[in-house]
Amino acid sequence: MAIKEKTIHPQTQAAEKYVQKVLESVRERNPHEPEFHQAVKETLLSLVPALTKKPEYIDHGILERLVEPERVISFQVPWTDDQGRVQVNRGFRVQFNSAIGPYKGGIRFHPSVNASIVKFLGFEQIFKNSLTGQPIGGGKGGSDFDPKGKSDQEIMRFTQSFMTELSKHIGPDVDVPAGDIGVSAREIGYMFGQYKKLRGAYEAGVLTGKGPNYGGSLARTEATGYGTVYFVEEMLKAKGLSFEGKTVVVSGSGNVSIFAMEKAQELGAKVVACSDSSGYIYDENGIDLGTLKQIKMENKERINIYIDKHPDAYYFEECKNIWSIPCDIALPCATQNELDGDSARKLVANGVAAIGEGANMPSTIEAIDIFHNHEVLFAPAKAANAGGVAVSALEMAQNSSRISWTFEEVDAQLHEIMIDIHEKSVNAAKEYGHPGNLVIGTNIAGFINVADAMVMQGV
Ligand code: GLU
Repeated sequence: MAIKEKTIHPQTQAAEKYVQKVLESVRERNPHEPEFHQAVKETLLSLVPALTKKPEYIDHGILERLVEPERVISFQVPWTDDQGRVQVNRGFRVQFNSAIGPYKGGIRFHPSVNASIVKFLGFEQIFKNSLTGQPIGGGKGGSDFDPKGKSDQEIMRFTQSFMTELSKHIGPDVDVPAGDIGVSAREIGYMFGQYKKLRGAYEAGVLTGKGPNYGGSLARTEATGYGTVYFVEEMLKAKGLSFEGKTVVVSGSGNVSIFAMEKAQELGAKVVACSDSSGYIYDENGIDLGTLKQIKMENKERINIYIDKHPDAYYFEECKNIWSIPCDIALPCATQNELDGDSARKLVANGVAAIGEGANMPSTIEAIDIFHNHEVLFAPAKAANAGGVAVSALEMAQNSSRISWTFEEVDAQLHEIMIDIHEKSVNAAKEYGHPGNLVIGTNIAGFINVADAMVMQGV
């Protein structure tokens, strides 16, 4: 994303030069990592106004230090499948930045996982976690293991092997993993069981997203999706708009997507489409969430089963075309780069009013530019999907104090956090000369908090 207003102020020039120098070195030092380059570029370009105002960040080498993970762990994950054959996957944990708290971020099991993906996610997590106002640093992990089609026993054996190595690098005050794509309550349970066995102690705060019967927080499953809708609701409210009566398209059908749909419906919207990695469903009567939850969460089946139960609905193969469905609000909640320039142009042509990113980096840089150029309200991922990790931090707080809050208490705190993130982002955008640009506002608000802590802690 380009900074539109060029000024000849020497401090701005120095800041732009500094950003370009750091971007160049990121490209050189991390070849073949396109997603990591993309995440760093999108973020650093928007920090120019902050570096102009506070040039001491340049003197302290803050950007050079931010783009270099504090620690990267890559490891072998051997396991045996149900046929007794030995399989080997690759595991990662990137401990990116610990300026404001222990590393915190999810674990993703998906065949696309590699160093670039884990680094882009870990980098984004630094800013997202800072925005929540909770004391958590940035980290991320995962494996190229494909959970699709694996038996429960295979999932358990793989996950235990993954944790056997990971356990050496994490702890409630060191690094606290959680779920992400392919990792939910079942996998977190197996990981926790293995960690407990290896450690010989019940350290509840080592992982979040646990079952509520053994230290998990109520409302954690709902948090990311609810949080996305709470954030978009604030963004709409600022323009005198709301979800009431709006047509919404939500990609994905994991917990982010399902609970974004649930909250949007609660606020009076009609959600007409959602997807999985094979295709998407369109139901002009509004998606029946009871059926969808049963298919995706309970039975872990493919989304096309939906049309067996709702013969009026349609199923289409390939997910990309989901963005050609006319809607007022689009919530990309599936995965990175799922919404490109072509998709953005279609959404704009169909009159979309607002975008809320529930997934991590779902829009390409070109797509974001198109939304900005057409004055589509745009809620960037680092803010809009921060609700999940925010409630993870609340889970850590409950674990430390050995208490558990009710669903309503956690949901109310989540709602307040999302309102606060929106306010912080709006204020930072205004203060740094780009009113209404939430990409700039979000990145700067998240950055300042971390950068100031880094300055105070020295090199
Ligand atoms: N994986 C989630 C995210 O992208 C949640 C991380 C967490 O709860 O630690 O923010």
